[in-house]
Amino acid sequence: MKTTRFIQLIGICIVFGAIAALFFVKMEDTAEVVIEQEQTKVLHETVVEGTETEPVPEPIVEPVTTTATLAAVGDVLIHSSVYTDAFDGEAYDFKPMLAPVKALLEEADITFANQETVIGGVELGLSGYPNFNSPYEVGDALKDAGVDIVSTANNHTLDRGEQAIINAITHWNKIGMLYTGSYESFEDQQVIRTIERNDITFAFLAFTYGTNGIPIPTGKEYLVNLLDVEYMTDEIKRARQEADVVVVSLHFGNEYEPLPNEEQKRIAHEVANAGANIILGHHPHVLQPVDWIETDSGESTFVIYSLGNFLAAQEGIEREVGGIVRLEVEKTTFKDETTITIRDPRFIPTYASKQNWRNYRVYPLEEVDNSILANANDWYDKTIQHMNQWVPELLFSFE
Ligand SMILES: [Zn+2]
Repeated sequence: MKTTRFIQLIGICIVFGAIAALFFVKMEDTAEVVIEQEQTKVLHETVVEGTETEPVPEPIVEPVTTTATLAAVGDVLIHSSVYTDAFDGEAYDFKPMLAPVKALLEEADITFANQETVIGGVELGLSGYPNFNSPYEVGDALKDAGVDIVSTANNHTLDRGEQAIINAITHWNKIGMLYTGSYESFEDQQVIRTIERNDITFAFLAFTYGTNGIPIPTGKEYLVNLLDVEYMTDEIKRARQEADVVVVSLHFGNEYEPLPNEEQKRIAHEVANAGANIILGHHPHVLQPVDWIETDSGESTFVIYSLGNFLAAQEGIEREVGGIVRLEVEKTTFKDETTITIRDPRFIPTYASKQNWRNYRVYPLEEVDNSILANANDWYDKTIQHMNQWVPELLFSFE
């Protein structure tokens, strides 16, 4: 009996406690509502009392920054000993030749290569120096190694005529590789090649100083883009309309000269002033240094005057050493303005090794030991000193 009453008492206490708690919560709610109403009133009064020109506070806009990397390699120059080495009796396979550098090529957001020889395919008959025609499988290997776009404007573009160019383009399209500098029609030439990565659009143009004296068929000037400053300027302006960054591939300079000549420097300055952000030079078959070009409008254009050979069968160590250049592009968008900055230039020297015109392999030069190349370390040191002579901040690692 006593216990029951005690429980009843506790029950009553809980009920009263709950009512009291609800009451206080309700009071607080009411208080908040009152305060909110007060604030609304104050705000309302401010608006009413203010003049019509009272500024409306703008939403805070923060700059948006994004980056993407671009890598490039030089001449893919398929001499007959290179395609012979790639043939196993049934098919051509160039992938093992690029395997030691594949990770470095894949690592960049976009990778470019100069396809010096036309991949017209076996049906036209393969050929080496001086009028090259290479197997389609060269393209397959580049694609597999991470290359996204090839330059096809160089002095060997017309080596095997129009049919080789058309065959090559058919294959590039088949494997989904972008090509620039040599086209199948005027309509094709009009299409600016662009690649977008991380909200940054890159446009790629390519031009060559000439075609080894082989005339361009009249009425088919789209077959190869020539290095004409006025034409290049127009094309760069057109590319600027469609892209944040303009990359210009220039096939120019004197073969086997380690430094750019005055003509290369003059053309590079013209191209930079026309609006190119990055200039990728090739043709000398040896490396020429990197540099920054200050444009008339105060921007900095990056140039590598010659990327050297990437995969070729030329003799002499300077012609076997090439490299992978890499840059970071930063895009900052703030309100209606977009700023592009090219920075962090890096370079990995490479070595195209062979033994008795067989076993072609492209290695990072730093990984090559004396059994592959005598005094490999000295060649590495010599190469980096050559490449950074005008740009001391050039780094030699992608890490
Ligand atoms: Zn060339």
